[in-house]
Amino acid sequence: MIKNRIEAVIFDWAGTTIDYGCFAPLCGFIEGFKSKNVEITLEEARKPMGMLKIDHVRAISAMPRIQHEFMKQNSRDICEADIQDIYHRFESTLTDNLLCYTDIKPKVIETVALLREAGIKIGSTSGYTRAMMEQIADKVAENGYQPDTCVCADEVPKGRPHPYMMWKNMAELGISDPRHVIKVGDTVSDIKEGLSANTWSVGVIMGSSELGLTEQQVQQLSDEQLGSEIRRVRSAFYAAGADYIIMDMGELPRVIEKIEERLAQQEAHKLLTPGPLTTRQSVKHAMLADHCTWDEDYKAITRSVLRDITEISANTDDFAAVLLQGSGSYAVEAMIQCFCRDDEKLLIIENGAYGKRMIKQAELAGKCFVTMSFDMCTAIDVNAVEARLISEPDIRAVMFVHSETTSGLINPIRELSTLAHSLGKLVLVDAMSSFAAYEIDMEKWGIDALAASANKCLEGLPGLSFVVARKELLEMESSSKSLCLDLHDQYLGLYEGGGKFRFTSPTNILLALRQALDDYRMEGGLTARSARYHCNHEALMKGMGALGIRSLVPEIWQSDIITTFELGALNFETMYGYLKSHGFVIYPGKLTDIPSFRIGTIGDIFPNDIEKLCETLRDYMKG
Ligand SMILES: *Cc1c(COP(=O)(O)O)cnc(C)c1O
Repeated sequence: MIKNRIEAVIFDWAGTTIDYGCFAPLCGFIEGFKSKNVEITLEEARKPMGMLKIDHVRAISAMPRIQHEFMKQNSRDICEADIQDIYHRFESTLTDNLLCYTDIKPKVIETVALLREAGIKIGSTSGYTRAMMEQIADKVAENGYQPDTCVCADEVPKGRPHPYMMWKNMAELGISDPRHVIKVGDTVSDIKEGLSANTWSVGVIMGSSELGLTEQQVQQLSDEQLGSEIRRVRSAFYAAGADYIIMDMGELPRVIEKIEERLAQQEAHKLLTPGPLTTRQSVKHAMLADHCTWDEDYKAITRSVLRDITEISANTDDFAAVLLQGSGSYAVEAMIQCFCRDDEKLLIIENGAYGKRMIKQAELAGKCFVTMSFDMCTAIDVNAVEARLISEPDIRAVMFVHSETTSGLINPIRELSTLAHSLGKLVLVDAMSSFAAYEIDMEKWGIDALAASANKCLEGLPGLSFVVARKELLEMESSSKSLCLDLHDQYLGLYEGGGKFRFTSPTNILLALRQALDDYRMEGGLTARSARYHCNHEALMKGMGALGIRSLVPEIWQSDIITTFELGALNFETMYGYLKSHGFVIYPGKLTDIPSFRIGTIGDIFPNDIEKLCETLRDYMKG
């Protein structure tokens, strides 16, 4: 079902909607060059098809074989006056020919009717001049096809592959978003016109100029011959960058449906989750460049990312960031693998699922560890930790989660770190969902290493995590039993290798992170970002309070990152479905005892988004 996200389809004329195989202009080019004693082949005549016809003559004249042949026949180079002569001969031959080629191609009339029924407007562009078009438009209309708009190549500053004919159509049809427009054509220059206009570009194979066959010729070819010709056209359209390639116009409605599905996904949802998050257009856009891992420019970008990440929580003389392929858990696990010696006791303090995950990771890594657990809705008790560290002096390292995304509470990182550090312990922190949103001063608070990832409060994309650690830790031979999670080795690669990842680097994701860091600075860094998240959280508490929905973590321990609410009489599945259909994605609860749900307030989210969410939730609860 076409849903009206696509507002217009702009068709080419000859070879696309009329004139099967695009034969009308061909004789003209051949006759034109013949007037200068140069024989051109059908293939040469077709090659630039789709361009403004004078440009088409120029393109043929620029072919080396034609230039050579012209020199041989005329003992001089082809000049502008020759081109004009050839063009005039072309024009007069074309006039005789045009009306013979006004038949509408199969399935065009039905498809156009179907599109109009769906509310889609029909535009058109042509390599013909207006004068040529006037000779055929009425006849074609009589035959049953009449687009709403028609722009000819001589009515804009430049014809194909430039975008102006497309944009003039859009202006006349009153359409402003090129992503809601589809170009359909039968030549490489049509495909390029669609792409340069930033619209969707569709190539049609059968009856195209690129295929260059009449309907009769098509029928006479063996399956094998036709198959090979079709493959040739398909690969030409593909190489030109076509978004979709169809056999005939009957396939267009299905393509429109597919494009509309893609548009629907992009319009999409505000993710009110703990990551991946809603990200800025600029961050996603940064991924459009492809890079090689070895490339100097790419390595320089990597180095700048390492430096900027480190600076967020530490000074860069004593600390360094190590990027790691993979989600946040990879960085946490790497930290456990590398910084805790097998024979030295590690204390893992947990009050949520992420803390429990660290225990699992330490267990699998074969580390010697002990644990302390607190209720999911209470912050870690610093006094209890102090007592434990004093009574168990062989504990060498302490590890905990700063912002427990399970519940939404924030642990007293400063007090815990300074305490453990003052007792001579190594301090390792999972700062996944707090990094870049809460102040962390590794140096001052005695934090030796922390783990975080690109797709939380830095608002980058998932696929890259990192550890910021004291350089002395990174420089030591690591105790990792994993090759991939070896921070020491990764550190050497990244720093001694001048920004080189040991193994394939997620290049596009790194570019997105580079942009995310720039956006972070542009927003105003930690101060501005934490203030925005705080406003989001306040808006959420206010809105939910008005709906009588209670949060579960006491406000003194509550973070601005994500908030857990009591589900009460609400049904999560139906609520989720309703909110999603209204553009919001929320998260299930992770508390073990009380049924709950979570709403994240990080990412490219603003207080008005949160207000809208609460209104939507109110509507849901009313209905
Ligand atoms: C997101 C997150 C992680 C990492 O989880 P992944 O699914 O591996 O990205 C770890 N700890 C906390 C506190 C988190 O919020």
